[in-house]
Amino acid sequence: MVTILGRAKINLTLDILGLREDGFHEIATVMQSLALADTLTLTRQEEGITLRVDLPGLETDERNLAHRAAALVRKECGVRGGVHIDITKRIPVAAGLAGGSADAAAALRGMNELYALGLSDDRLCTLGAQLGSDIPFALMGGTVLATGRGEVMQALPDFPATYVVLAKPPVAVSTPWAYRSYDAQPPGFHPDNAAFLEALERGDRMRCAELVCNVLEPVTETAHPVIADYRTRMRAHGALCAMMSGSGPTVFGLFAEERAAAEAAEAFRLETDAAVHLTCTAGKYGE
Ligand code: ATP
Repeated sequence: MVTILGRAKINLTLDILGLREDGFHEIATVMQSLALADTLTLTRQEEGITLRVDLPGLETDERNLAHRAAALVRKECGVRGGVHIDITKRIPVAAGLAGGSADAAAALRGMNELYALGLSDDRLCTLGAQLGSDIPFALMGGTVLATGRGEVMQALPDFPATYVVLAKPPVAVSTPWAYRSYDAQPPGFHPDNAAFLEALERGDRMRCAELVCNVLEPVTETAHPVIADYRTRMRAHGALCAMMSGSGPTVFGLFAEERAAAEAAEAFRLETDAAVHLTCTAGKYGE
């Protein structure tokens, strides 16, 4: 039996550079792992893949990314035996926190350990990229500049340890819809990734907080004004900065002090309909 964590992520910056010939968007995004994680337990069984999730309504068949990841490893490595995957879901679903990718990455690592396959990180990332652009990042974790479709990774110095409050409003956002809406009306600004990387190199959290920027934010915010309301509240409760993650709708706030973060989380629980999590930044896988 093997137990692996699949960590959530936030995007500290997210830029769209254009549309590629393969139909995907060319992006440049600084991604950050969080301590908030799903737990996957993998157990060998005679044959086939079975999956249980403790969240009613979430797919447990081959539509589940963890299921697909296990199937891919079995096929690619000629594994005869099967696996049962048990998922304890903590990452909010369809929230811009890449929970599905986190579970897929954990299933890839889990299969590698369970069947002692000896797959390298590079090989796992290549397999992961076949299933989703965020999965290579989910495998490696830490602080990364991801380009291409999001699968080309440059490891960065760890973002200074920071408390993170997540507030997910009760609305659903589809990632393809957000990208289509962006194409129809791109906002006229871009994050300054070069300046962000320089600030990160210096460990200058305050400057990084000034430079967080997500080009999808106005797109999702137009459809869901509650996101702007959450950003304003997050700042009013003392966040260094507040922004939407990925295609949303989750808003994150960064906090230097645990107490301020805990107070902001409590205020969100009392004052809004948000699903609220208090967590912190996390380093690379295995650290
Ligand atoms: P994206 O990675 O597209 O930005 P997201 O982070 O906003 O998405 P996820 O939590 O990954 O959202 O879920 C997106 C959809 O993926 C869900 O609505 C669900 O149908 C499907 N899905 C498949 N497997 C999983 C999984 N293990 N956990 C969560 N969602 C999953």
